[in-house]
Amino acid sequence: MGGLVDSGPITAANVIAESRGSEKPDEFVILGAHLDSWELGTGALDNGCNAALVIDALRTIKAAGLKPRRTIRFILFSGEEEGMMGSRAYAVAHRNELDKMVGVAVIDGGVGRVTGFDLGGRKDMTDKVAAIVAPLKEFDATELKTDDVEWGTDHYDFLLEGVPTLVAEQEEGNYLPNYHATSDTYDKVDIGQLKKHVAEMTVVTFGIANANDRLGPRLTHAEIDKILRDTHSDEQMKPLGIWAEWTSGKRGRAK
Ligand SMILES: [Zn+2]
Repeated sequence: MGGLVDSGPITAANVIAESRGSEKPDEFVILGAHLDSWELGTGALDNGCNAALVIDALRTIKAAGLKPRRTIRFILFSGEEEGMMGSRAYAVAHRNELDKMVGVAVIDGGVGRVTGFDLGGRKDMTDKVAAIVAPLKEFDATELKTDDVEWGTDHYDFLLEGVPTLVAEQEEGNYLPNYHATSDTYDKVDIGQLKKHVAEMTVVTFGIANANDRLGPRLTHAEIDKILRDTHSDEQMKPLGIWAEWTSGKRGRAK
């Protein structure tokens, strides 16, 4: 039988676990991936495997008995595929504590090999992030990108709030042939590669939570605006309607 039925709006929830920091529990970093997927296939690559990664990063840190200085929130965001709705709602709901948010790390590209991280145009973060990702040299995953702004995943509304963001840069792997398709099923997940990514994202998240210094300040509206223009992100945001939301103060940091 064919035909899609629009069942109208539904209520969905982010799934959140928190590990409290030992020295600065009010400061926090988020490790995130999205829990939802399209109804085609089972969403194993997009983004089931990385939702599992977030849970396994928490397990890894607990099993190692490590207690970072700052709090880590492990979040499975909902509604990403409909336009980062869960992460946007979270950023808005927690706006009064975003000065204390030291960063967010997100992974959303299936199991394509991680090559490094996109820093959302923030050159001011490169030295500190380079120190944190140095142990990933053995996986060849230390490349840092600052010349563009990734927009299509759950770090985005935090970036528009001026919070430091890291998005895993990944090789295509088998992501695109199975993207939003009936073929996006468990058998496509390279478990060995996924385990490496668990290690990598755990190192990055723990490193941000445990560092002496923050990666960088929370940027003001004017500073974020300059990055968006310098990276020509405005051209990308205009057709999506996001630029109008940004400039009017409807979305992201208003001041
Ligand atoms: Zn995705």
